[in-house]
Amino acid sequence: GERTPMTVQSGQNFPIPGYVRQVLDTLERAGWEAWLVGGCVRDHLLGRPAKDYDVATNAPPERVQGLFPVVAPTGLAFGGVTVVLEGGRVEVTAFRSDRGYSDGRHPDAVAYGATAREDAARRDFTIGALFWHPRRGLYDPTGQGLADLEAGVIRAVGSPRLRFQEDALRILRAARFAAQLGFSVEAETRAALGACAPGLARVSRERVTGELLKLLTTPYPQRLELLGECGALDLLFDGRMLPHRRRDYTLAAKVPLSPGVRLAAFCLGTGLPLSVLKQSLRLPGALAREAGDLLTLGLRRPSGDPLWLKARLARYRPETVLSALHLWQAAQGEDLSGARRALVRILAAGEPIRVAQLAVDGRDLLALGVLPQEIGGCLGALAMLVLAYPRCNNRDFLLSQAGFICQIGTGVGPTT
Ligand code: ATP
Ligand code: MG
Repeated sequence: GERTPMTVQSGQNFPIPGYVRQVLDTLERAGWEAWLVGGCVRDHLLGRPAKDYDVATNAPPERVQGLFPVVAPTGLAFGGVTVVLEGGRVEVTAFRSDRGYSDGRHPDAVAYGATAREDAARRDFTIGALFWHPRRGLYDPTGQGLADLEAGVIRAVGSPRLRFQEDALRILRAARFAAQLGFSVEAETRAALGACAPGLARVSRERVTGELLKLLTTPYPQRLELLGECGALDLLFDGRMLPHRRRDYTLAAKVPLSPGVRLAAFCLGTGLPLSVLKQSLRLPGALAREAGDLLTLGLRRPSGDPLWLKARLARYRPETVLSALHLWQAAQGEDLSGARRALVRILAAGEPIRVAQLAVDGRDLLALGVLPQEIGGCLGALAMLVLAYPRCNNRDFLLSQAGFICQIGTGVGPTT
């Protein structure tokens, strides 16, 4: 799956939502310069829907706050505020130039009163340093943003080594943008990925986790290879993967675009143990559990056998079982579409699979004389029975079976 070449559209007829227009116009009427910048300009030029809108301005943040009724001081230290309007919210960031990054994370100082050209110089990649103005149109201060967009290239603004030394998260961002857009990374920028990778040790786990999850859930997650070949993955995961040449980075691209299954595919393809993944990143608990379930499910070879599927459905969510089939199909290259159809049939038929679907419950068993400590086990055994023989799910029969299982002389059931 390589990228099909995209035609960059003209910046002239940029359909901007009303509330974004309102932010630009209000700033301009107050005598400031206001430009759209970053992802929304890039996506418009690529003919893709914009995710959100960022505005860059020469107005200092306190002046922006004075122009709109509701403004959240989201990134005030770095000149950013969020203007909240009825139609949506807009990030408004003051033009700035960053001075020094001695900790490899944050600029030591930021200078306001900068120009759009200076503001472009502190941005990481040329395709994210494109500006668009309602009257003046497109502005490409690096002189390369538009050409790189057309050629499908990720290129650092300025010296790649300096930029990655300032903030090593940009190494992951380079791979993430390549994965999002199906772009390649320009040679000098690519060489700097490896040279600066040791700086990743100073980046917070939260930022690393955010970027890796974004990368994994893009259309081209196989771009992960960029981080594998430059040694960044080994640094992040303490060298606990298969050697680079034995990893399969394409596995994530062969499974559906959801974080849990992509994470599991990442582990499976690179040989990364789940325990190391969990130690190294800050994963939401539910996500770590889902990836864990998928890997456990994947250990045993799935089959299309309805009983096998139902036994899994008794323990895991249907989406997890379905994802496990996708994962296994990708890993083993075998066609499991029959198993997926069987799964859908089972779910559609509403056959009893779980304890909650049984025609009896714990209170029925208590009334029958089953000891409280035996109820869980007994219900589990009945569920197994019903799983294999759906027609057995009737109350009288299950009560007689419960008596049999728990050896209570109920006078009914197979003992008599
Ligand atoms: P997306 O569509 O994924 O949001 P984006 O280009 O808008 O893409 P963001 O992460 O939202 O990317 O950042 C907005 C802009 O801010 C970027 O285009 C880039 O110019 C700048 N930027 C963000 N993070 C950094 C960073 N760590 N270093 C330098 N510039 C950055
Ligand atoms: Mg953005």
